[in-house]
Amino acid sequence: MNTINFPYLKKYFSKKRNIVITTHRTPDGDALGSSIALYNTLRLDGHNVNMIVPNNFPYFLDFLPLSSDAIVFEKENEKGIKLIDEADTFFFLDFNSYSRLDRMADYVSKSDGYVILIDHHQDAQIQPDQSFCDTNICSTAELVYDFINNMQWEISKESAIALYTGIVTDSGSFKYPTVTNKTHDIVSNLLSYDINHSLIHKKLFDSNTLSRMRLLGKCIGSNFQLFSEYKSALIYLTKKDLNDYNFVKGDTEGFVNYPLSLKGVVFSVFFIEFNDGVKISFRSKYDFDVNKFARLHFNGGGHKNASGGKVTDLNLKETIDYFISLLPKYKNELS
Ligand code: 5GP
Ligand code: MN
Repeated sequence: MNTINFPYLKKYFSKKRNIVITTHRTPDGDALGSSIALYNTLRLDGHNVNMIVPNNFPYFLDFLPLSSDAIVFEKENEKGIKLIDEADTFFFLDFNSYSRLDRMADYVSKSDGYVILIDHHQDAQIQPDQSFCDTNICSTAELVYDFINNMQWEISKESAIALYTGIVTDSGSFKYPTVTNKTHDIVSNLLSYDINHSLIHKKLFDSNTLSRMRLLGKCIGSNFQLFSEYKSALIYLTKKDLNDYNFVKGDTEGFVNYPLSLKGVVFSVFFIEFNDGVKISFRSKYDFDVNKFARLHFNGGGHKNASGGKVTDLNLKETIDYFISLLPKYKNELS
């Protein structure tokens, strides 16, 4: 539920604030783009601002202006704790449950700072002081754009690049059903900042390494299973695969979309075996609700057509077997 009160916030930010902006673990383009855009806007408005991310973001986001200002909590633990302790104001962007902050959650959730939540995920678990959320909007970046405009703050070129990146990545390059004429109106305005959108697409999508390409080959070659009866497909990577193909964070971004691109497939799942458990990505087309599926069976959540989850008490094979055992229950919804 939205509880935003812009007149109140205008007064609140007329005083210099000590702000921490944070977002979910393994920040994606929307999470980091939204954070950078707001970070630069608040800096230019004269506040003392820090961006803290729970862990590192993928290498293909390094091109974002000011990305090196992000403090990675996992690496700079003490600095992060001190900044959280000193902050009087928090912006939570692109997440709505403390569990998505990993080890930062303990410190952030105990702070008595003023919390403003800007997000587009379903089933919020956090009760902020003010909330600017809409689950129908395809990216948090669009909400941040609206927020900045409502506050009558200036958008810089750096912020425009960051917001454009957030919108492109969370909208599947403008193809998801949640894209609206308003999305394009916002993008039209962002392009007026001379942001070189074509270069942004190249940086995001044409910076494959050879090992990433081979990892993808492994996935859609031998580590693939199709369940025609359920219009579903899965891919997976074992710890050994990750090691054999020199996996680095970000390499598997977008892999889950390949099975979904098959004609007739409406549900795609991607399992990755890490040391601390199995990370799962779910994607769907049309009506199949993967947010509900992830929430019910895999300790996760997200959106109707894109969600994720994590399993720590089963190994990879057991997790996949459990997933396969669930499919018959969904036969009606998947046919
Ligand atoms: P991805 O598959 O790209 O990691 O995540 C897809 C969507 O699901 C994103 O919107 C992400 O925020 C959400 N998501 C991913 N993992 C989790 C999780 O463990 N818990 C929840 N609540 N959401 C998740
Ligand atoms: Mn998002």
